[in-house]
Amino acid sequence: MRVLIDPGHGGDNLGAVANWHADDGFGTPKELREKDITLAVAECLEPLAEPPADSWARVLPLSYWDLNVIFTRLDDQALSLTDRGSRAKDNDADLVIHLHCDTEPTGERNGTRCYYWPGSDAGALVSHTIAKHSPFPFGSNAPALPEHYPRVRNVLSKYPMTGVLVEMGFLSNERDRSWLQNAWVQRQLALAVLQGVLALGKTLEAKAVA
Ligand SMILES: [Zn+2]
Repeated sequence: MRVLIDPGHGGDNLGAVANWHADDGFGTPKELREKDITLAVAECLEPLAEPPADSWARVLPLSYWDLNVIFTRLDDQALSLTDRGSRAKDNDADLVIHLHCDTEPTGERNGTRCYYWPGSDAGALVSHTIAKHSPFPFGSNAPALPEHYPRVRNVLSKYPMTGVLVEMGFLSNERDRSWLQNAWVQRQLALAVLQGVLALGKTLEAKAVA
């Protein structure tokens, strides 16, 4: 199974940007950009592509699952949605996972939300599995919320394969924001993505042996 991991945004496309003042007595201005968080989580998954000799990814039976992991970007480059869709098609990916962070004006919403193409059983399976394993609480993982339709459709409509858009947490929420910057939480998010990938791999395998 070939999986394309797509860290959202990059280059001059910053994605959501959170600005706040640190509670350090000086009110130091702070900034967090979505493009950096999505890349950090993708970098946690990078050992899956070519596991170095001492990597934890070696322990995983990637070859058992015939799992091939590729990335749209592993540096700070700008890619259009069409570029990302072409990458899926050119590499004949079976599954595409888009990594993003959410934002909304009230600052109250928090947690992971995963979106898939309505009616896609594979998308639903991967989506629910990622949400279940996320270190954050999860909200609606049904097909996209109405307010998300245009954005989700835009991302997922650029290729014919199974795609899942993971909004890992809300940059607009203070609690999510502080944890999204944490390297261990980023690894947990990466592991949640891997669980989603393996869930689909196992289902495909079960169908193949049935
Ligand atoms: Zn985004």
